[in-house]
Amino acid sequence: MTDMGNSPASRDIAYVMHPYSNLEKHKETGPLILDHAEGVWVVDDNGKRYIEGMAGLWCASLGYGEQRLIDAATKQLKQLPYAHLFASRSHNPAIDLAEKLVAMSPGMAQVFFANSGSEATDTVVKTAWFYNNALGRPNKKKIIARTKGYHGVTVAAASMTGLPYNHIDFDLPIANIMHTSCPHHYRFGQPGEGEEEFASRMADDLEKMILEEGPDTVAAFIAEPVMGAGGVIVPPRTYFEKIQAVLNKYDVLLVADEVICGFGRTGKMFGCEQFGIKPDIMTVAKALSSAYLPISAMMVNQKVADVVAKNSGKIGTFGHGYTYSGHPVSAAVALETLKIYEERDILGHVNAVAPHLQDGLRKLTDHPLVGEVRGLGLIAAVELVANKETRENFDPKLAVAPTLVNKALEHGVILRAMMGDAIAFSPPLVITGDELDMMVDGFAKALDETLAWLK
Ligand code: PLP
Repeated sequence: MTDMGNSPASRDIAYVMHPYSNLEKHKETGPLILDHAEGVWVVDDNGKRYIEGMAGLWCASLGYGEQRLIDAATKQLKQLPYAHLFASRSHNPAIDLAEKLVAMSPGMAQVFFANSGSEATDTVVKTAWFYNNALGRPNKKKIIARTKGYHGVTVAAASMTGLPYNHIDFDLPIANIMHTSCPHHYRFGQPGEGEEEFASRMADDLEKMILEEGPDTVAAFIAEPVMGAGGVIVPPRTYFEKIQAVLNKYDVLLVADEVICGFGRTGKMFGCEQFGIKPDIMTVAKALSSAYLPISAMMVNQKVADVVAKNSGKIGTFGHGYTYSGHPVSAAVALETLKIYEERDILGHVNAVAPHLQDGLRKLTDHPLVGEVRGLGLIAAVELVANKETRENFDPKLAVAPTLVNKALEHGVILRAMMGDAIAFSPPLVITGDELDMMVDGFAKALDETLAWLK
């Protein structure tokens, strides 16, 4: 480690235990410390500016410095900085936000508030169990998620997540949570197999799993409409239609995890609308408040809401909730965020500028390192390969994607390396066409430099 004296970097190394970081390596590299931000630009403690090509963690949808959100928070902090929703207590920000979310949603009836995506998906697991106990089906408890799916990091959420680093040495997944196949045609399609045949095979895999486990033991299937952290994987067009038919056949709840896709990321308000998904339960977070304050929600349709309510009547309570469920300041900011989406026609904007990202990246398809470019709306990934013909991956020890991401940083672009050497793009939804062009340009330069570095 270089001598950093009593600098913020050395104090960071000494005191901060970083999430999702190589804590040993961090002692050598130290942190990238951000100081302030404006629009889609963040500025580090040396004054270097970067386009936030990931909107933080796929979340700062309205970019930075949005005065209306700052005002909404300040006003609520003055009026009622805290109130809870336990034991039938309530407050207007939560009521208004719940009403608005239901009105926007594809068929949801009620909203349960939490603080993070993980809390929302964990709540889903408990709700699915509560629901089936209420219906007198105590064995119908298994949750099927997907390999490469991402649903968070709390114990049940991390169990549903289908990525190795969330399980290794954490003694996860817990019992009764399993993973079916990942609908990534480029990686898992068989030679000569078209996208639609592949989608049918994915639905067959799910049906086989349900039959092997026993349909009366399977409670729910959870999926992100477009997989995010697993590598921005867009399923074949008819995948969800085929999956839904299987779930309906065996009375298995469909849970759409909209934590990344929700609120315009894919070019529709919800990812469900992209693929005709009719969920029983939905989770939202991240862009719900443009990440200005933590808030998430599980939403349920009338069928689930009715069963849960009735059972809580029988037991005496729905014994679940967080101190900060529906926190009034977070709820006020979320409500203002949703108003801004509508007033500024965020969907219109996303669809107008998306070609700068999607077409811009697809122009790089012939680059020797590029295996696949995928995405829609303002979410995309470029997967790097060692061999374009065989689609062979690089040895993970080479850390090709992390190297590229570091080179992109030098060009003032923040991106994210994911497993399998895929580079993710998920900028603030307010980004302009020119800013997207700059982002793609910075990436393209980093791509060439990575190729040179490999030789
Ligand atoms: N679900 C999805 C689809 C996510 O992408 C994430 C986070 O990236 C989560 C759940 C977990 O959210 P959090 O990190 O807020 O707990």
